[in-house]
Formats: sequence, structure tokens, C-alpha cells
Amino acid sequence: MLEALREEICQLHLELPKWGLVTWTSGNVSGRDRQTGYVVIKPSGVRYEGLRPELMVVVDLEGRVIEGELKPSSDTASHLYIYRHRPDVGGIVHTHSPYATAFAAVGQPIPVYLTAIADEFGCAIPCGGFALIGGEEIGREVVENIGDSPAILLKQHGVFTIGPDPTAAVKAAVMVEDVARTVFLARQLGEPEVIPEEAVRKLRRRYAEEYGQ
Ligand code: 13P
Repeated sequence: MLEALREEICQLHLELPKWGLVTWTSGNVSGRDRQTGYVVIKPSGVRYEGLRPELMVVVDLEGRVIEGELKPSSDTASHLYIYRHRPDVGGIVHTHSPYATAFAAVGQPIPVYLTAIADEFGCAIPCGGFALIGGEEIGREVVENIGDSPAILLKQHGVFTIGPDPTAAVKAAVMVEDVARTVFLARQLGEPEVIPEEAVRKLRRRYAEEYGQ
């Protein structure tokens, strides 16, 4: 079932190693099917090059496996918590991308130092508290702390991103790492300045409403 979404989620997983966001089997992507309400997610601990659409796991919002031979991702309960509490979310990504996770390791948000941060996120990228892996705790941290941002760092863990669809969540994961790297490099040169709020609002609006075709 959900053949197209399985294919899409499988393909999107391949973007994570391509952009250097994951190592070995870390990270996961999921997507929500709007018609059935089911979620398609990565099987736990399977290497990226071994992922196939038929290995993706279909679960309902309570975590029951609807279809799939393999055990779903260890972050499934947290993905589902986010889907249950954020009806606007259609896709979720988790990575341990190195520069962003370095900020997470020290529990620091990423301030709006760059126009790219204003464009993509519209605010500082927040850092939520520490949460154990395996249950809903991570999902709760995400929902409580992410606000209007499409991305959040989780203390001593990594990155979670959300989007209206799975591709938007993957894009946010790519962009978090890109800006985290630039901010890390900038701090080797000096202390960057935060862009004033009014300018951040204008940049975000232009990017959301006018940028591109
Ligand atoms: P899974 O392979 O179970 O998705 O775990 C990867 C991970 O990064 C857990 O936080």
C-alpha cells in the first residue's frame, strides 16, 4: 500500500548521505499520507544503500504497524507524536549532521546571523532539551520548542525538521547544516551580529512570497 509515498520516502532518504547529513544508519525520514492518515517511515538500523521502497514501514498514528516486515525507526513514536500535535506537518526528518549537531552538543540555538537563516527559518533555530531515544520524549521536546521554525536542535542529540511535505522537511535539514557550518566558520573570525527583527520579517516574507518562479 501507499506505493508512491514509499517510493518518495525511500528516495528522500538517499538525500541525507548525499548532503553529508548522516553516518552509517543514523537519521530517518517519514511522510504522512493525507488520505489514510498513515505514516511511512524508515526501518530501524538499515544502511542507506540497502533501503528499498518495499522495506519502508507503514504505521498508524498510534504506532501500530499496518504494513512492513521490518521494525520501524526507533524515532517512530516521536515522529507520530509530532504528527498528532501538528496537523500542518506532512514530513519529518532527523539527522546528526555534524555542524548543527555540534551546536546541539553544547545546547546552543543558532541565532539569525545570516539572511539565509531569516529566509529559511524566519527566527533563530531553537535548541530543545535532552530527551531519551525510543519513546515520545523527543517528539514532546520538538512540539514544545520548535515554534514557527521548520527546524530544531535537540540537546546532545541532533536535528529534527518538519515541513508541509517530506521534501520540505529534507530541504530544511540540508539548510540547517549549511547555515550551522557558516555560523561555525564565522565564529572563528569574530562574533557575528544578529539581524534586527524587522529585517528578519521582511526577508522571510520576500523569500516565502516572492522568491523563485
Ligand atoms: P533508526 O535507524 O532506528 O531510525 O535510528 C537512527 C537514529 O538516528 C535514531 O536517533
